[in-house]
Amino acid sequence: MNSITSRLTALRAEIPAGVELVAVSKFHPAEALREAYDAGQRVFGESRVPELVSKAAELPSDIAWHFIGHLQTNKVRALMPHVSLIHSVDSERLLRLIDAEARRIGRRVDVLVQLHVAREETKFGLTPLEALELITPELTASLPGIRITGVMGMASNVDDEARIRADFRKIRTTFDRLASTVFAGHPEFSIVSMGMSHDWPIAVSEGAGMVRIGTTIFGEREY
Ligand SMILES: *Cc1c(COP(=O)(O)O)cnc(C)c1O
Repeated sequence: MNSITSRLTALRAEIPAGVELVAVSKFHPAEALREAYDAGQRVFGESRVPELVSKAAELPSDIAWHFIGHLQTNKVRALMPHVSLIHSVDSERLLRLIDAEARRIGRRVDVLVQLHVAREETKFGLTPLEALELITPELTASLPGIRITGVMGMASNVDDEARIRADFRKIRTTFDRLASTVFAGHPEFSIVSMGMSHDWPIAVSEGAGMVRIGTTIFGEREY
């Protein structure tokens, strides 16, 4: 079980039906993505805009590119023509910029609200409270270039499973709150993106509908 194809196949067999797999391919060369593509994978996650743009130019056009890294405002324009889902929106400023840029090029872009629930202090994202304050019907109505389709988050980078589970539960609960209020009657608000190589089974058991997995498929990254 050493090739990308075999690891991907084994992983797919483990992930329950209905949970979408984003193959996190950051720092891996285009040939590695090609192998996963040939094994049927169509959704890839990248964390740097130039890398996503150059891979999108090189690889088949039916790939859905997800941006999962911290998005700098000066990189929004370059990203916009290629991206199908931005997982990492965590400020009103970024929402407004993506909206303006999407409308400028005549498209609508799907985004997730990135939540910060983990213990690490340096990570990006809105706290659940900040998200519930920011995301209002008035705000979403003022962003015609954007569809907010869910939330994304990470658990604390710890061994304590109870802590990891509690973090995922906070993400899920925040999603549920938004789904039943601001997004009531908006079935497109449907995505809970959480879980990585080491913790995705816990995320799935806490209600993830989308997992972002890199190392298990592609091996260790060389930065
Ligand atoms: C790199 C990354 C992943 C994938 O992590 P692995 O441990 O390699 O599975 C998932 N989500 C985000 C936001 C990442 O930056």
